[in-house]
Amino acid sequence: MKLLRYGAAGAEKPGLLDKSGTLRDLSSHIEDVAGDALLPETLARLAGLDPASLPAVEGNPRLGACVGQVGKFMCIGLNYSDHAAESGLAVPDEPVLFMKATSAITGPNDKIIIPRGSTKTDWEVELGVVIGKTAKYVSEEDALSYVAGYCVCHDVSERAFQIERAGQWTKGKSADSFGPIGPWLVTADEVEDPQDLDLWLEVDGHRYQEGTTKTMVYGVAHIVSYLSQFMSLQPGDVISTGTPPGVGMGQKPEAIYLKPGNVVRLGVNGLGEQRQEVVADD
Ligand code: ZN
Repeated sequence: MKLLRYGAAGAEKPGLLDKSGTLRDLSSHIEDVAGDALLPETLARLAGLDPASLPAVEGNPRLGACVGQVGKFMCIGLNYSDHAAESGLAVPDEPVLFMKATSAITGPNDKIIIPRGSTKTDWEVELGVVIGKTAKYVSEEDALSYVAGYCVCHDVSERAFQIERAGQWTKGKSADSFGPIGPWLVTADEVEDPQDLDLWLEVDGHRYQEGTTKTMVYGVAHIVSYLSQFMSLQPGDVISTGTPPGVGMGQKPEAIYLKPGNVVRLGVNGLGEQRQEVVADD
């Protein structure tokens, strides 16, 4: 299933995209694509519905973030060896973990807003993992059974805030609009192998990032198991699993950063595409 949220920001309704590409409303079955609606038993119940019995949504509504009420937005840094190299950093001995403020989360096609004082707003296409049941001290062997599904995640990053200001990365990762997720959550049963997905990102039609989850240093099962040793993961938590090479910071002969007027497109095969216009904050 492809689960999504549609409508005005803050008032999204749950929906699904059927096999023919028609958006259908799920309001009579779940309140939101969030929390307990992602539990295995709820997903099984939704999978049993005949999509044709659900009301088709008229028009072409805005898509919201594909998961609502995200409790934790965890991110893995330097998880592709070639991206670590372009960042001038060694591949870490254990996953590098940081958090993004959940207030950064936006819809897949909402604008990217360059925050005040930013000179280095950058892009990162990533595979997003959505947790479907509480995970605590889970083994790597069992870890994927805790995953509800996958989505495209854009880990928008302000490099000066991230690296040149004191402390952790969080302040460079958390501005409003820095976390587009979606267009939809693709349930795990439809993703044959999360370690065999191509990712790409373009700015104004120029392809900067191209990679595959095959070259992740730490795969999804390892990441879920690893995080669950330090904290419990709950349904609706999102983990962004790191970016392949080709970020703006790594461009030669010099770095390239986003400017108002740029258009960013990105996708992961099988999980859909995002498109964002870049604007300045006012
Ligand atoms: Zn990232």
